[in-house]
Amino acid sequence: KSVKEPKPDWIRIKLTTGENYEDIKNMMRSKTLHTVCEEARCPNIYECWANRTATFMILGDICTRACRFCAVNTGMPTELDLGEPERVAEATENMNLRHCVVTSVARDDLKDGGATIFAETIKAIRARTPLCSVEVLIPDFLGDADSLQIVMDAKPDILNHNIETVERMSDRVRAKAKYRRSLELLQRAKSMQPEIPTKSSIMLGVGEEWDEILQAMDDLRAVNCDILTIGQYLQPSPSHLRVEKYYPPELFAELKVEGMKRGFSHVESGPLVRSSYHAHDQVKSAKGN
Ligand code: SF4
Ligand code: SF4
Repeated sequence: KSVKEPKPDWIRIKLTTGENYEDIKNMMRSKTLHTVCEEARCPNIYECWANRTATFMILGDICTRACRFCAVNTGMPTELDLGEPERVAEATENMNLRHCVVTSVARDDLKDGGATIFAETIKAIRARTPLCSVEVLIPDFLGDADSLQIVMDAKPDILNHNIETVERMSDRVRAKAKYRRSLELLQRAKSMQPEIPTKSSIMLGVGEEWDEILQAMDDLRAVNCDILTIGQYLQPSPSHLRVEKYYPPELFAELKVEGMKRGFSHVESGPLVRSSYHAHDQVKSAKGN
C-alpha cells in the first residue's frame, strides 16, 4: 500500500514575482508559447524567469519511454514538427532570454532520435539571439554516437544529459536508459568537443544510499563531467515512484561540498534544484568567467 509522504517544510515554492517574470508571463499569454517551466509547474519558475532563463520541450509532448518518476505522457509520438526550431528561437527572442534550455522527450521511433531538430534549434536560437547561451538536455539517443555528433557539431554552450540516479537504482527508475550508457554519452560528448562543458543531474529520494551518491559523483568526474545538479525527487502522482526519503537542506549542502572537492566546476544542490536551475551562472563558472 502506498503511503502519502508528508512534504517537509523546506519543500516550498518561493512566491516572489519580479518585473522580468511578469514580462515573460505576459509574452507567453499573448503568443501561446509552451515551456517546461509552466507545464511541469516547476517550483523555480518565478526565480528562473526573473533571471531570464526558461526551458523548452521540443519533439512533441509524448514520449516513447515511461520512466517511473516522470509525468510526461507516454505513447505514440506526434509527427515531427519541422517548424519547431524557428518557433523556439522566436520565443527565445521575444522572451529576451539570457539562457535557454532545450530538452525533449525520448524519440526512439526516429532514426536520429531527434538530434537534427536539436541541432537546428541551437542554430536558429544563435541566429536570432547570439548573446543567449543555449543548453541542450538530451536523451541518450539509444547510445548512437552519430546522433550525438550532430548535436555537438551545432556547438551548444552546455551539453546536459541526466543520469538521474545512482547505478543500483537506475534500471528501476529509468525506462530503457542505462547508467553506463549515459556515462558513455557524457564521455563521448567531451571527446567530440572538449571545450563544451558537460552537465548531469541526480535526483535524491528514490532509495539510494549516501555512498552510492558519492560513487555517482566519482563516476561523473571519471568521464570529466563539469557541472552537477542535485535535487529532491517529488512524486508527480500517486501512480509514480514513491518518495523514499526527503533530504534536509544540510545534506544537500554537504553534497555540494563533496562535489566541489571532486572537481566539478559548478555544483547546484538543494531540495528544489532542478536541472536548469541557475543554469546561466553555470555557463559562466564552467567557462571560467
Ligand atoms: Fe524552468 Fe528549469 Fe527554471 Fe524550472 S528550473 S523554472 S524548468 S528553467
Ligand atoms: Fe520522461 Fe525523459 Fe523518461 Fe521520457 S525519457 S519518460 S521524458 S524522463
